[in-house]
Amino acid sequence: MPLNDPISLLDLTRSLEQTPALRRQLSEAFLSVLDSGQYILGPTVDTFEKHMADRLGCEHAIGVSSGSDALLIALMALGIGPGDEVLCPSYTFFATAGSVARLGAKPVWVDICPGCFCMSPGHAKKQLTDRTRAIIPVHLFGQTAAMQPLEALAAAHHIPILEDAAQAMGATYAGRSAGSMGRMGCFSFFPTKNLGGLGDAGLVSTNDAALATRLRMLRAHGSSPKYHHHILGGNFRIDALQAALLSVKLPHLQTMLQARQQHAALYHSLLMQSGLTAADACLCTEDAAQASHTSPLAPLALPTSQPNRTHTFNQYVIRIRHGQRDKIRQALAAKQIATEIYYPIPLHEQPCFAAYRDPSQDLAHSHTLAAQSLALPIYPELRAEEIERIATTLIALCHNPPA
Ligand SMILES: *Cc1c(COP(=O)(O)O)cnc(C)c1O
Repeated sequence: MPLNDPISLLDLTRSLEQTPALRRQLSEAFLSVLDSGQYILGPTVDTFEKHMADRLGCEHAIGVSSGSDALLIALMALGIGPGDEVLCPSYTFFATAGSVARLGAKPVWVDICPGCFCMSPGHAKKQLTDRTRAIIPVHLFGQTAAMQPLEALAAAHHIPILEDAAQAMGATYAGRSAGSMGRMGCFSFFPTKNLGGLGDAGLVSTNDAALATRLRMLRAHGSSPKYHHHILGGNFRIDALQAALLSVKLPHLQTMLQARQQHAALYHSLLMQSGLTAADACLCTEDAAQASHTSPLAPLALPTSQPNRTHTFNQYVIRIRHGQRDKIRQALAAKQIATEIYYPIPLHEQPCFAAYRDPSQDLAHSHTLAAQSLALPIYPELRAEEIERIATTLIALCHNPPA
């Protein structure tokens, strides 16, 4: 590969070039929906929902219009509204907390763990009040949150857990699938996710039959039967086309996840060899909380897979310390290497959430990650030589930081 070919963060067309069979299967699925004349819900969606429920190991899967709508409809199904508080990480994609605020409830910020970047169970405990109605752990970047301590907390306070598994389709925690552990799990099939559609789509999973019925009603304006509205819903339906295309891609999921994991392992070995890295320990469990921190003097911190969790590396997010992140990102861009910052502003600092800010709250780990995080390209079809070029360039830049 020529030394200066651009490396993009994600190239969605490569999977079609590399797997002609996939291109043909997707085209056939498209034509079968076209010829069926049924474009919303229907048998294609039923089949996809069944495949998803089987894959996740849960009883019910309800296809919806997007991951954001999955969160919204799940909160609606729990009856969350004004006066209610919902624990959300202060460092996640906007929709996690946006869905809470859209229902008139209050997102209550919980800081993240500096080691796994997910909701800190210790901090969550401190934020509970008698108005807390749900906890939303986010399985950030493709690794689940520390579910066991969060489940203990939720059980002790009789509060449901709603998993935001948008980035973690296929991840597991102690053998259980992301999205199958909480009262409900929310998924996104946005094209950048582990299982990406060719447009917007999402899904809610649950083992609770009554909730499943409610979710199916809510996604169609709360009606059952048609034109009889007992509860207030909306249009949160999934297209038959997305369901058909996703059914084609689902059997390829495991191979795609393995490719992501192999890429992460290659990054890890190349960057570790540089001697420039030290990650912070995961502080989610009590024994870990005793563990000492590793050297903050190292310029790089690599993402780590925690024991008991399979990381699916929807994103490969490193940290660049010493205030060098933005300069190094620019220098990588000058060498045609695309990167992204997930996320530059923690949610408690977003202008639209000003009403939920509590200046006395300590959300230090969210701040640090917003200032230091850098996502490197990691999509399944990325090539080993591209990863080598990214790692070599990054190491050189850390040895000789740009002025
Ligand atoms: C992508 C994402 C969502 C929203 O999914 P959409 O399908 O884009 O609406 C929600 N939460 C997290 C953590 C996400 O990454």
